[in-house]
Amino acid sequence: MKAIRVNQFGGPEVLNLEEIPKPQPSAGEVLIEVHAIGVNPVETYIRGGANPKLKLPYTPGSDAVGAIAALGEGVSNLATGDRVYTSETITGAYAEFAVAKQTAVHRLPEKISFTQGAAVNVPYATAYRALFQRARAHIGEFVLIHGASGGVGLAAVQWGKAAGLQIIGTAGSDEGRIVVHNEGAQHVLDHRQTGYLDQLLQLTNGRGVDVIIEMLSNINLSHDLTVLAPRGRVVIVGSRGKVEINPRDTMTREADILGLMLFSASAEDLREIHTSIYRGLSEGFLRPIIGREFPLAEAAKAHTAIMESGARGKIVLLP
Ligand code: NAP
Repeated sequence: MKAIRVNQFGGPEVLNLEEIPKPQPSAGEVLIEVHAIGVNPVETYIRGGANPKLKLPYTPGSDAVGAIAALGEGVSNLATGDRVYTSETITGAYAEFAVAKQTAVHRLPEKISFTQGAAVNVPYATAYRALFQRARAHIGEFVLIHGASGGVGLAAVQWGKAAGLQIIGTAGSDEGRIVVHNEGAQHVLDHRQTGYLDQLLQLTNGRGVDVIIEMLSNINLSHDLTVLAPRGRVVIVGSRGKVEINPRDTMTREADILGLMLFSASAEDLREIHTSIYRGLSEGFLRPIIGREFPLAEAAKAHTAIMESGARGKIVLLP
């Protein structure tokens, strides 16, 4: 089968399409014929060497979507042909076939295409965890999705709308802002424009927002703390460096800064997340939005694109 292999850490150019043996599932595992793959920023950090203990060579990716091609011994709750997405793979997602533990395989409703399915796992799981398991956002609250045009951001907009939250999103391009608005944000600001957080304060009559879901904390956290309402919460979803904050901004508001790492979610939390995702996809209030598609062979281009601004949905690879 064809798979993307990383033989050394480095830039996007280290992603090579190679022919490797098709993997076989062991007990408790399934083999999936992959039809689409979600590309997540974390895969660029790992490719660059963020996890130096990772054994080389490896096939990147956690978010494979497709049909079950074979069952390992003892797998009884799934059948060949079932449409599924993975939350983790053993052999890597950037490939024509992937092996995953049965516990990391989740059903995809018929109405969701395989390509849309590639936008589900990391984005929707992270957005759910941020809004409901970390921030405990509740109906009527004002939420700023700071970076709403990408995979996690659009998922958070859709979850938030369904939960009756008042959503303010940000995006850095006209196309991105249109998508964020269409998916349910009441107001959309431009995070590249000077003074856009003053507009946010005006939109909330000077009170600020109850929750911020933050995609770029190293740039935004210190400013975020100044536009929080009393007892506001900021969830740190993304950060690419250090930032200096004024702790007094949290004291006056009794605000909370909450870290999030999807990989740290408990099995119980993950069950809640994937059950909620299935319900949302089936009922139609979750509608994964695809921004760009690349053939598997062009994984390097996908990795370059995901680090550029101008997001308008999920970046997907097609084997
Ligand atoms: P993505 O699809 O590449 O989207 C990135 C988003 O960040 C876009 O909406 C982009 O907007 C926005 N952005 C760019 N500059 C910004 C700024 N100055 N202020 C606010 N937002 C800005 O990535 P993603 O999958 O949504 O992930 C978002 C971040 O969360 C990444 O850093 C990722 O590594 C992280 N993440 C963490 C976890 C976790 O477990 N903690 C899980 C998933 C993702 P424009 O392109 O419109 O400018």
